Amino acid sequence: MMVRNVFWGLFGFVVMTAQNGFAQNHRFPLEPAGKYVTAYYDLGGTTDWNCGKETYAGHTGSDFGVGSWPGMGAPIFAGAAGTVTATHDGEFDQCTSGTCAAANYVKLQHADGKVTLYTHMKKGTVAVAVGQKVTCGQQLGGVGSSGPSTGPHLHFGINAGAGYDDPFTGPCGGPLMWWVSQGTYKGLPSTKCDGPAEPPPPPKYPVFTLGTAILPIDGQSTDLITDSGSAGIFDLGVTQSTVMVFDVKNSGTAAGANVTLAFWVEFPYVAVAEWTIWDDWEHPGTFELNDTNDKQTIAHENPGETFKLNVGGMSPGETKRIRLVVVGTAESIGKADHPDVRMWVAHVDNYYEKADFWSGYNNVENYQTYNGGDLRVWSEVDVFCTPTLCPAPPEPDMSEPLPDTTSNQTDLHNTLDVAGTDLGVAPNPDVAASDDLLNTGNNDDLGDGTGVDTDRDLTQMDPSQDTQSFIIPTGKGGDGSQNAAADLPFEPSSFGARGEFRNPPTESAADSGCRLGPYHPQGGWGLSNLLVMMMIAISRRVR
Ligand SMILES: [Zn+2]
Repeated sequence: MMVRNVFWGLFGFVVMTAQNGFAQNHRFPLEPAGKYVTAYYDLGGTTDWNCGKETYAGHTGSDFGVGSWPGMGAPIFAGAAGTVTATHDGEFDQCTSGTCAAANYVKLQHADGKVTLYTHMKKGTVAVAVGQKVTCGQQLGGVGSSGPSTGPHLHFGINAGAGYDDPFTGPCGGPLMWWVSQGTYKGLPSTKCDGPAEPPPPPKYPVFTLGTAILPIDGQSTDLITDSGSAGIFDLGVTQSTVMVFDVKNSGTAAGANVTLAFWVEFPYVAVAEWTIWDDWEHPGTFELNDTNDKQTIAHENPGETFKLNVGGMSPGETKRIRLVVVGTAESIGKADHPDVRMWVAHVDNYYEKADFWSGYNNVENYQTYNGGDLRVWSEVDVFCTPTLCPAPPEPDMSEPLPDTTSNQTDLHNTLDVAGTDLGVAPNPDVAASDDLLNTGNNDDLGDGTGVDTDRDLTQMDPSQDTQSFIIPTGKGGDGSQNAAADLPFEPSSFGARGEFRNPPTESAADSGCRLGPYHPQGGWGLSNLLVMMMIAISRRVR
């Protein structure tokens, strides 16, 4: 009874799968070169499927020769995906009598109900285990002459539920063919696996995507000045600093080695006071100092105009984040078209080379897909100046000698210098600036006779700036698009809110005037920044 139940259960499974139209045909289970048919399935009377005599009485499979003993060990592949249900190994494999008892073999169960048998294997070559799932074409073992065999060959048997049957179809055979393609008589079936061909794996390349953002400035509209065609452009006061972020992500499938990034800064309107390199290699999405963030070994060419950073290797999925402290150094309103900081990928070993921002690129094998392969991006700002810091030039009076504009500038610096001295600002503005201001109360030291609410200005120095997230994506892609957000390959909110912000190096108040030339990082930086914001507040009140 039990046997009958099992039989009907299996039969039902086969019928069901046949009704669903699902059937797995098989590939030729050997490499075709040097292989040939030695005996087909015997359909009765020593007759093969083509009504020939290429079989022997009672043969229940298909035999394929491998060129006698030199062919021993030729790999045997699964004809279709399946599960290993039986294996046997360890038997003598040089049988020539045809009467040796035990063979080495593998049996597979296929999802459509068929069972296949691969036998006479070479001793010690069985490469799969019971229960293991195998894919079509996966090696099962090697050809031998174990069991009832007269020389090395593969005996391939296939059973669709009613005993071993002939996978070939022809005038003397059954109506069903169980090969993907059986080929000609005495030829070999196709080695193509059943089902849709698997797509080839994508080529292994690093692929880079770029993005930018600008850190907002506390208490200041990000677009304070919307005239002069500058609507929508981030505004930065002279001597104010912001943080520009440039992200480079390797969204490809291979690492990039010796990645070099290059920057161009639109001097004299903006200058870079400091840079840091971060990466999320160890903890994706969480940024830590990059392993090559060694300022002594990185080429750092003339910050303020052009420089390069070697950021090292980039693994697939890794993002390198370059944070630049960018200072407004001269008013650009009406003078320059939105000064910007530009970044481009200058070099990736074996993949990418780009000499400068506007030059063409050498994109090996066109691996790079982002932005058409042109890896450049920029962030632009407008640099404004307060009337106090940047007074309008006096009307020229042709009846008198031209005024000495140099002395005017000098006076301004003196004023700032005095203020800075009186306030006694410590090098770290975050720590000491507020205390000094409150204690000395030098609100009027600007020399303009206007009191300033220092509390308002102190927010500028609030170290909470360190942990702000980015909300103002202002980059634009190398395609020249003005739509910054559209060029960001990531969500702006993905920028980390960790304390990566580094306070800019300090600058002496004497150097913080307008149109002074290169930014000099030395002493008193935070105060001059504060003073500018005081002046902005003043000018607002005057209006
Ligand atoms: Zn055989």
